[in-house]
Amino acid sequence: MGSIAINLQEVKRRLSAAALEAGRSADSVTLLAVSKTFPADAVRQAHAAGQRAFGENYVQESLAKIEALADLRSALQWHLIGPLQSNKARGVAAAFDWVHSVDRLKIAERLAEHRPASLPPLQVCLQVNISGEASKSGLAVAEVLPVARAVVALGGDRLRLRGLMAIPEPAEGLADQRAPHRALFELRAELNTHGLGLDTLSMGMSADLEAAVLEGATILRVGSAIFGART
Ligand SMILES: *Cc1c(COP(=O)(O)O)cnc(C)c1O
Repeated sequence: MGSIAINLQEVKRRLSAAALEAGRSADSVTLLAVSKTFPADAVRQAHAAGQRAFGENYVQESLAKIEALADLRSALQWHLIGPLQSNKARGVAAAFDWVHSVDRLKIAERLAEHRPASLPPLQVCLQVNISGEASKSGLAVAEVLPVARAVVALGGDRLRLRGLMAIPEPAEGLADQRAPHRALFELRAELNTHGLGLDTLSMGMSADLEAAVLEGATILRVGSAIFGART
């Protein structure tokens, strides 16, 4: 077995152990393999080991990779998890299944405008600056409800708001790792009291996936623990 297949097994073992501890079914958590900076062949190896959902950060790199893997397109789910400028929205709307990194209404408008009618609705999350760091991208907590309502009001069959995504500040120790994930969980609960029906929490990476599963993550974004260290 190649190292990607072995690493995938180990990540799934961690996911299952955390789900067991949380009293959740392991099936309630989707593992997204973050393949940014790794070649298409690494995605092929992960696919051969049973992995289906892949996350990418850089639009240019990802469009080339999706193209190089066109023969597997119907077997793969592609998620954009990195920053998106509105002038790149057209290519992204046509190539991806999900976008986790919507951080302003204008991006959602462009994605809806350019989503091909022949495809199912693009599934989107709003990225939230949950740790409140000045330098990080994502909506401030106070902006999330109005933007979420406006995204839903775009309506139509081109785009569907599914939930929230965050990249918390790195923390040591389970308790400190859990705090921002819990805050995102509570924010979704608060939004859902306004009838938004959000079912997705995209949170948890290689270093803190247990904390995220314990706090209700539905999508984990795991890169280095699957593909190795990035250079
Ligand atoms: C790179 C990246 C990940 C994966 O990080 P690892 O620490 O390698 O698991 C997850 N989410 C986002 C937004 C990323 O940019």
